[in-house]
Amino acid sequence: MRDVAILRRAVARALPTAAAIRHDIHRNPETANEEHRTSALVRERLEQIGVAAHPVAGTGVRGVIRGARPGGTIALRADMDALPMQETSGVPHASEVPGKMHACGHDGHTACLLGAAEALAGMREALAGTVKLLFQPAEEGGGGAARMIDGGVLTDPTVDMILALHAWPELDAGEIGLRAGPVLASTDGFRVTIQGRSGHGAHPDQCVDPILVAARVVEAIQGIVSRELDPLEPAVVTVGGIHGGTASNIIPDTVTLRGTVRTLSPATRAQAREAFLRIVRGVAEAHRATADIGYSEGLPVTVNDERAVALLRSVGEDLLGRDAVTEMRRPSLGGEDFSLYLARVPGAIFRLGTGPGRPALHSSGFDFNDDALETGILMLAGAALKFLASGPE
Ligand SMILES: [Zn+2]
Ligand SMILES: [Zn+2]
Repeated sequence: MRDVAILRRAVARALPTAAAIRHDIHRNPETANEEHRTSALVRERLEQIGVAAHPVAGTGVRGVIRGARPGGTIALRADMDALPMQETSGVPHASEVPGKMHACGHDGHTACLLGAAEALAGMREALAGTVKLLFQPAEEGGGGAARMIDGGVLTDPTVDMILALHAWPELDAGEIGLRAGPVLASTDGFRVTIQGRSGHGAHPDQCVDPILVAARVVEAIQGIVSRELDPLEPAVVTVGGIHGGTASNIIPDTVTLRGTVRTLSPATRAQAREAFLRIVRGVAEAHRATADIGYSEGLPVTVNDERAVALLRSVGEDLLGRDAVTEMRRPSLGGEDFSLYLARVPGAIFRLGTGPGRPALHSSGFDFNDDALETGILMLAGAALKFLASGPE
């Protein structure tokens, strides 16, 4: 890549501010769709570095860097929301908001993208085309990506490629993880109410016991993965909640079950849904009960585009070295709303190492590792530079 030395200097200059902003956001976490302070901070910083910034999707921000010459458009996306949990990390910049913390590293993602924006804003001469900076609210189940897309972030100008990163404690800081194809799962959800008939616990013959039916449903739907789906296709059916009953001698009227169904392909996803509805209805009917089934379509499978992964691989090998670029052997059945962008525009999400030996994502001791900032900024800015230098195909 041309301009590597200039890029490295620009990233080194952006690094101290990125770290300070990261600590500021970490100290002041805001959960989904309440990212008012974070959003204002992002807009203010973009204006300071001469990047036009506009609100979108409520608390989201869209920034635009136009290169000196015309060309394609690449979008870089960071999520900004925190989680509703109490931090126990004990770091100096720990959350000052009770019950909220950045346990998924989105403070780091936001800081990396601001750092990349600063580096790229100083290199407009090297850019043929446009960089869109997408600071997204509400990744953790709040519908942020869908509203960003509805807000028009992928059009005018049309985005040719979109990239994102996610903190990954299982890789060391300085490393990245890549994988083409499906990387994260579809995340459908269910809520089933088993309707029986209540009565005395001593007279089950006069009742329809929804607790027994719920137990049989929990057991029967485990047959979906083991007996109905292709054994070589990953899938998970998890019941995460079961509620019913008030006393030891009362058979209740209803029991409610809820959970999640994860797959890595549209075909398996559809097959799992069909089997779920059939089995739950059938088990309820076999026991004289009825099942009211809410089966909600969640996020689609996150599928990384091969060309986008190839771009990230070559940038990673150039800027970080061959040993720092790991091919991720396996996908994960976690979910990501970045999948919604990837369903419309080719792109990829990569894993940014934040280890070693640090607490897991979504754990109360988690803190994004500052040693990973430089790698994240280099990768985002470097990929944008390379994509716009070569132009879209
Ligand atoms: Zn998360
Ligand atoms: Zn996350």
